Amino acid sequence: MSQAKVLVTGGAGYVGSHACKALAAAGYLPVAFDNLSTGNRWAVRWGPLVLGDVLDPSAVHLAFKQYRPIAVMHFAAAALVGESVREPALYWRLNLVGTLNLIEACRIHDVSVFVFSSTCAVYGIPPSVPIAEAAPKRPINPYGASKLAAEQLLQDAETAYGLRYAALRYFNAAGADPDGEIGEHRPVETHLIPLMLDALLGLRPPLPILGTDYPTADGTAIRDYVHVCDLAVAHVRALERLLAGSPSFACNLGTGEGHSVRQVIETAERITGRQVPCIEAPRRPGDPPELVADPSFARDALKLMPSNMMGLERILETAWAWHARYRARRLRDA
Ligand code: UDP
Repeated sequence: MSQAKVLVTGGAGYVGSHACKALAAAGYLPVAFDNLSTGNRWAVRWGPLVLGDVLDPSAVHLAFKQYRPIAVMHFAAAALVGESVREPALYWRLNLVGTLNLIEACRIHDVSVFVFSSTCAVYGIPPSVPIAEAAPKRPINPYGASKLAAEQLLQDAETAYGLRYAALRYFNAAGADPDGEIGEHRPVETHLIPLMLDALLGLRPPLPILGTDYPTADGTAIRDYVHVCDLAVAHVRALERLLAGSPSFACNLGTGEGHSVRQVIETAERITGRQVPCIEAPRRPGDPPELVADPSFARDALKLMPSNMMGLERILETAWAWHARYRARRLRDA
């Protein structure tokens, strides 16, 4: 029997490529559907790459027709809080219409399982942490708003067409494949860990600490950093739960532990034995002070045990191993 195929939009991207590796390890054939606007061709290693855009309904339709996937994992999106504040139309179009085009294709091609890449940004500034799935959804930036709208669209598609979905609300994806095959690289970087590692290698100006007046112990913002391979495994488990007949569900993906920007910097300095050059800077618009997951539902529904998940040290070790090698190779090839 041929391998069951899963269409992975954004399969050349950071989380999407790690999900493809996890899908292949679980016996599926991941078909990466990506326009390579921010993804990397080298990250597609476990199945075919279909060059296409989720905003192009005919390209989406053709991919379904050619590969006949049993399910969709939808990562292709714009996902930067700061950019979303400056370019809201881009976020609404890509994140909402992209999802709509995929839902339409699922309907036409009888695909009834959909794993959706959502975000903790749907919660906005939570009244308390840790954040459970039932917490109020009041996004404070267009990124979170567009993802929440896409979740609502999926809910309507479930009612009307019987499409079952998992909305996986990630906290901060970080780290790299411990085998060193893939890792984080975007054409334009805004994320704390890769920027910090570049600053530490002297490849960028000092790292700006964006906000030192937050109501937290050291004044810097707190996030729940979750290893990208733990996220990838969670996607496969969510897929299998839906394939086994589960109704739709929303699920936080985080470790339940928060770390401030200063704690991330200190841990990186300890692991690398180098100093991170940094400067204090104003807050970034749209950034909440503290986001930490209540991981209970993921533990019960996806068997994602916080005690088995990789913590900040392992995240930074794998990120550093990948980053140092990848940067050295690029500098050599330049
Ligand atoms: N951050 C920072 N300096 C940077 C980039 C990010 O201090 O150059 C902070 C940011 O304000 C947030 C945390 O690091 O509190 C994580 O930001 P990132 O952009 O990595 O992820 P986000 O939380 O926006 O998804």
